[in-house]
Amino acid sequence: MADYFTEIDVLRNGDSAGNGMVLGLTDPQGRRIHTVAVPQESHSHTGPTWAYIFENEGLTLIDPGAAASFDLLQSGMALFGSSPADIERVVITHGHADHDGGVAQIVEASGAEFWAHDIYQPLLPFDPRDLQLRATSPIKEAMWATARANGFSPSNSDERTRYMASRATHQVGHHIHPGEQQGELRYMHAPGHSPDEICAVIGPGIGSGIVFTGDHVLPEISPHPTMKTDYPRQVRSNLPTRYHNPDESYGLLTYLRSLQRVADLGAEVAVLPAHRLYNNHKFNFQTTQRAADLIRFHARRLGRILVTAGPEPQPLEDVTRRTFERRKLEGGNFFAALTEVVAHIELLEDSGDLEVTDDQRLRRTGQENYQELLREL
Ligand SMILES: [Zn+2]
Ligand SMILES: [Zn+2]
Repeated sequence: MADYFTEIDVLRNGDSAGNGMVLGLTDPQGRRIHTVAVPQESHSHTGPTWAYIFENEGLTLIDPGAAASFDLLQSGMALFGSSPADIERVVITHGHADHDGGVAQIVEASGAEFWAHDIYQPLLPFDPRDLQLRATSPIKEAMWATARANGFSPSNSDERTRYMASRATHQVGHHIHPGEQQGELRYMHAPGHSPDEICAVIGPGIGSGIVFTGDHVLPEISPHPTMKTDYPRQVRSNLPTRYHNPDESYGLLTYLRSLQRVADLGAEVAVLPAHRLYNNHKFNFQTTQRAADLIRFHARRLGRILVTAGPEPQPLEDVTRRTFERRKLEGGNFFAALTEVVAHIELLEDSGDLEVTDDQRLRRTGQENYQELLREL
């Protein structure tokens, strides 16, 4: 959908992944949206974070990016005659380091109001990764046993320590509620990749509309879905009761339901993602069709895992390696693949298609209810 935007001006070139690039986009209504691609702290295959800046009841910035992003953001904004001091509000799509890592600096430099989904602040004191990895079920215990057998344990880098320290200083000025309208933007809660994920929608009108999708919908790569989890007591006591059920915030089924809501915006709505808007010397302008494609991608993966598990109980490691057989799975890669497979297995357990045996292996029950679940998204 490169032709959705009537003008795409490259105000600064970046590297082949887009790091440093600055674009000015004009939509069919004459709306001007600028975006600066700011680098992550350390190399990541998702590439830079695309920070979007536009007029909406004052200058609005969506996703300032990682802690290291400020200088490039500032020099990028200068190219379209703006500076951080002009920003009225900083909105984050979700609380991951490559989105809110730069919040403290940009809020201090601009005096802008910080906006995040309602569940973001109560979750701030807790490391998202720790919440995610809790062994709260037999399949997650199997995940840890498999990870340990492969010599993997999550490490605590300095980068991570700095990030958690920075989060502790964040003060949310405005808590976003689902369906909230602010100027031309309507905010949708889209949990699944992260419990606090939001999408910000302009329109849709007839034949037009834009949705800023954060990490919920990305071109080229499939966003990592969360696994189901349970809240420890100190987390639960920090959360408003409306968020007490973690199944409404985490897990593959939650993610797929959120994808369906984006697909339902209509096929003519343009997607502006937080990553991969440009990569490998080409632009990736897409529509909400991408959300429907991602649902089909996960449907195929669910089917493949079911076939791989087979009627005889299989170890989780074998199922993981066969699901990703064309890729080299080592260290962190293996662990990422493992958590992705576990997210799928959880859905297949819930649909009654797969069961975890007492010795932590996976057995197909012979049912295929998951397709019905997917039809009801
Ligand atoms: Zn993310
Ligand atoms: Zn991201």
